[in-house]
Amino acid sequence: MGREQKMDIFWCLTHRTLPLGCKLAHVSPTENGECPHCQGTPQTIEHFASEYNLSRRIWNILYTRISLSGNIPPPNSLDEILQLSNITEPKIRPAIRRLHVFGIYEIWLYYTQSKWGSSVIPELAIPFITRNWLVKALGILWRTEQGNNKEKRSILEHINM
Ligand SMILES: [Zn+2]
Repeated sequence: MGREQKMDIFWCLTHRTLPLGCKLAHVSPTENGECPHCQGTPQTIEHFASEYNLSRRIWNILYTRISLSGNIPPPNSLDEILQLSNITEPKIRPAIRRLHVFGIYEIWLYYTQSKWGSSVIPELAIPFITRNWLVKALGILWRTEQGNNKEKRSILEHINM
C-alpha cells in the first residue's frame, strides 16, 4: 500500500468513482446499495467518508493521535474532508490533506475487507491498527518525500506523534 495507492483512493472519492453501494446498485441487480454495516442506510459518498460511525471513529482517532496545533476538530462533512473548507491556515493545509488521504484509505480498507474480504476486522482492534499504520505511513512519507527541508520542517511542526 504505497502512497500512490492512497492518493488513488482519495482521487476516486473526489471524482465520485469509488465502487460504493450507491454506485454498485446501478450496475448490479444483486446490490441493494446499502452500507454493509448499517442495514437500511444507503451507502452514499457522504455516509462512507463522513457519516458512518466507523468513519467518524477513524477521524477522531487520527486527530487525537496526531497533536495538531490550534486544536483543530476532526472533519465534519465531505467538504471538510475533500476541500479542507474548515482549514484557513495555508501552512497546515498540506499536512491536513495528507492526513485525510490517509484516513480515507483506512476507511476504504475497512469497507473492502467487510464487503469482499474473508474476515471483518474486529472494531475493537481499530485503535491499534490505526496507530500502527499511521506510524508506518508517516515514517515512509518523511523518508521518501521530495519536498524541500523547510517545507518538511513546517509540516513536522504541525504533526507530531
Ligand atoms: Zn454505514
